Amino acid sequence: MKFKDLVQYFQRLEATTSRLDMMSILADLYNKVEDPDEAAIISYLVLGEIHPPYIGLELGMSEKLIIRSIAMASGYDSTQVEKKLNEVGDIGNVAEFFISKKRQMTLFTRELDVKRVYDTLDKISRTTGEGSINDKIRLLASLLVDASGVEAKYIARIAEGIMRLGVADMTLLEALALKLGSREYKALLEEAYNMVPDIGYITRVVYQEGLDGVKKVDIKLGIPVRPMLAERVKSPEEAWEKTNGQLAADFKYDGERMQIHKDGDKVLIFSRRLENITYQFPDVVQVVRNHVKANQAIIEGEAIAIDKDTGEFRPFQDLMRRKRKYDIDKMIEEIPVTLRVFDIVYLEGENLMKKPFPERRKLLESIIEPSEEIKPSELIYPKDIKELWNFFLLSIENGCEGLVIKNAGPDSIYQAGARGWLWIKLKRDYRAELADTLDLVVIGALYGRGRKGGNLSSFLMAVYDQKEDIFKSVCKVGTGFKDEDIAYMNKILKPLLRDKKPARVETGMEPDYWVEPKIVLEIQAAEITLSPVHRAAYNIFQDGAGLALRFPRFTGRYRDDKAPEDATTEEELIEMFKKQRRYVE
Ligand code: ATP
Repeated sequence: MKFKDLVQYFQRLEATTSRLDMMSILADLYNKVEDPDEAAIISYLVLGEIHPPYIGLELGMSEKLIIRSIAMASGYDSTQVEKKLNEVGDIGNVAEFFISKKRQMTLFTRELDVKRVYDTLDKISRTTGEGSINDKIRLLASLLVDASGVEAKYIARIAEGIMRLGVADMTLLEALALKLGSREYKALLEEAYNMVPDIGYITRVVYQEGLDGVKKVDIKLGIPVRPMLAERVKSPEEAWEKTNGQLAADFKYDGERMQIHKDGDKVLIFSRRLENITYQFPDVVQVVRNHVKANQAIIEGEAIAIDKDTGEFRPFQDLMRRKRKYDIDKMIEEIPVTLRVFDIVYLEGENLMKKPFPERRKLLESIIEPSEEIKPSELIYPKDIKELWNFFLLSIENGCEGLVIKNAGPDSIYQAGARGWLWIKLKRDYRAELADTLDLVVIGALYGRGRKGGNLSSFLMAVYDQKEDIFKSVCKVGTGFKDEDIAYMNKILKPLLRDKKPARVETGMEPDYWVEPKIVLEIQAAEITLSPVHRAAYNIFQDGAGLALRFPRFTGRYRDDKAPEDATTEEELIEMFKKQRRYVE
């Protein structure tokens, strides 16, 4: 197919916003095309892709490079092209403008065909390493030289990775269903696409093997399946209703989702958006090799950043610092992660998606050898709403976001690519950004790990209940202490350490040592949450729950000027919680 013919379809697609129109334009296009390879290429180009995202070969040339290519092909100056871009804003329109009044007189121009455009863009995406920038510019310019103005417009847009046709992959699948004879086949195509999310591959199957081929498409080790997603509810009661009480409850970890493919020693990791992120996590690769006792498996889990000294979960932002191409070893050291696996879709050649959740879970547990770095997610099959509610509170207490509640009935399949009611998320519904710091009293001390091993390095902290004259626990803090702080704390706490709980202290926690209430520290926290463990404001907002601080951190200030009875009071904490309580989402 000539590229200029395809461009006419692009123009028609761009001109409409109606999905139905788009579908019939695409169906018309697929009818014109006979060659399976060409059809596959067209499917990619309509989406503005060269490869499916999981391949990890992105074209996405920067505007700067495209400007230089346009300049090279048109004979204009880069600064002129750049100026125009500042006026117009869209690189496609700029390419059209300059290429349609090309200054350079080329002796031979060859009319572009679809295959050549694709192959050249493919080559650009594979050009890496030293000197690659100039090669990329030259390759793109070689297309632009032979392009008409309007052809240049779309080539530039594909090069930038933003096609702007408004066509979604689901619309393409619908058009392919028409190619097979009926729109009704869309569901089958979608099912195939959920297992192999490669629009080029699916197009080829449609052209070469027809409906039978589509029905046979199955999971492939090394190609990520589209992830199952969750609906949301506001209360445990609602979740109970939606699942008829046939449910499992799973901690909702605040990290990064990982879909992990293991094939012998070869391990691949894909993100929620199906990008290959293996190179960022060599530590996870190693853990999977050592602790997943299966030759071939596809498992899913959440990677969470942990504090390297205390082993506690860190906020999501910390994990985001691992998103980089360089200094990976340093990052592994600085921001270690731990994996909580929650599902399995493939094991030793068998697709498990149609098995009910409890069966999948059993298989998952059977192949994981738990360690600090990898474990099955924390899960219960609650017998009533109260147990579900308590588990929700426990998850918050453990630094999680809430629960993912999983239908555990006979039809609880893995619904790839769908947001449905088989998974339901229940997140904490209040969030307060604490503007104020709190002055809290040390009532317990715990041994640390790693660098701080052998030292007491995290501390159980309390607010003061004036009425009862009691110190009630509100958090455990291990963050914010420098080496010299740890040394100092160990020194000043020594005479205050007790084996038995001192009088006037209340908590649901068991520290390694109790501490006579005396030392006051200034603590900053992200928010106040409900907790089944801590005893501040116990039973006030919720039966069986008190208030706790989330992500507490020592500010570095020892409040020697304060007696323990001058610490933040329970009343003040309650006020802070009330004031800052608000619904999220
Ligand atoms: P959110 O921003 O709430 O994570 P999302 O759109 O990314 O939303 P949802 O389908 O709404 O995804 O929620 C499920 C997400 O929760 C998963 O993608 C996964 O990353 C995360 N998660 C954490 N713990 C679990 C768990 N135990 N089971 C399933 N998903 C979990």
